[in-house]
Order: sequence, then C-alpha cells, then structure tokens
Amino acid sequence: MKALVIEDVKKAVVKDLPVPEIDQDGILIKAMANGVCRSDWHVWIGDHGIIQPIIGHEFAGVVEEVGSNITNFKRGDRVIVPFSGSDGTCPHCIAGDTHLCDSFLVPGTAYQGGYGEYVAIPKGDRNAIHLPDSLNFADAAALGCRFMSAYHGVVDRVNVLPGEWLWWYWSFNNSNCFFHGCICNWC
Ligand SMILES: [Zn+2]
Ligand SMILES: [Zn+2]
Repeated sequence: MKALVIEDVKKAVVKDLPVPEIDQDGILIKAMANGVCRSDWHVWIGDHGIIQPIIGHEFAGVVEEVGSNITNFKRGDRVIVPFSGSDGTCPHCIAGDTHLCDSFLVPGTAYQGGYGEYVAIPKGDRNAIHLPDSLNFADAAALGCRFMSAYHGVVDRVNVLPGEWLWWYWSFNNSNCFFHGCICNWC
C-alpha cells in the first residue's frame, strides 16, 4: 500500500509498505479520506516526537477484512474511526469512561493511522462506527477531533440553546480535549 511516512522532522515521504495485518478482534479498513489535524503538523515539525511514522487519526473508509471474532462489521461496510479508541477491559472502560482507556488506542499513535491506504483497527467491534449513507467520506473525516470537542463543549458543558449567540476561543485545555475527546470533566 501507499502511505505517507514521517521519517524525520519535516521529512514526510510517500512509500510502498505492506498492508497491516489484523488479529481475530481487528478490522482492516481502506481509508477513503483522512482529516489533516494541527496535531499532525506538531508531529511533522518535531514538537511531539515520532511515535508512529504513519500518523492520521481522523479518517473514514470501507471495511476490507474482519477478524473471526468481529460481529458488528462485514467487508464493504462504510465506517468512521473515532480517534479515542478503547479496549473495553480496563477499569476506565468498565466504569463507562472509555475515553480515558488505559490502552490509549489512538490511531496514528498507538498503531498506524489514516495516512496509509489501509489501517488495521484493534478491537474493531468497538473502535469503528457505521457511517450513514447521507455522510460522504470527506465530510466524515472532516469531523475529526475538532467536531467532538466543539459539540461536547457547546451541547454538554455549556448547554447553549437555539437562538443564543456564543463566543468560542481556543484554550490551553484543548490539549486535554484532544486526548480525551473532550468528554472529560476538566474543561
Ligand atoms: Zn485531530
Ligand atoms: Zn480501556
């Protein structure tokens, strides 16, 4: 497959690489669109260090292959992959706080991300969501982490009502929003 690989600071190269493999709990997705996030830029410029050479945590695509334990998806399903993945077994997951999962299954950080043509999603039954027909891949990928942060802030934390106006500004705590899908109680 083709993939954009971060080889070094400010050095991104398109390479031919093997398609990643899945285990019995995984699903393989052909990435059709991937959002470009400011945090990708931070990796590229050297602020965060290169944990995973194939980054990309805002993507949607088509299921190519499923592991033998997968029940929610089949080949050909259109899906989006939330950037805040979880294992379902750690104390946070059991308590319902999957966004704080100890496994930190963030695509492009914990495993190869959406800048590759194919992405192997671990714990696939819980870490992908069916994409409605009304949403195309590019629009779905554009939701990325920014939409979840804004939606949670406006709907759940501030409780803005129809017709109201608000002023939204970027805060330092958005670094937490990124890593926790902004469903934490800290911001
Ligand atoms: Zn992002
Ligand atoms: Zn967990």
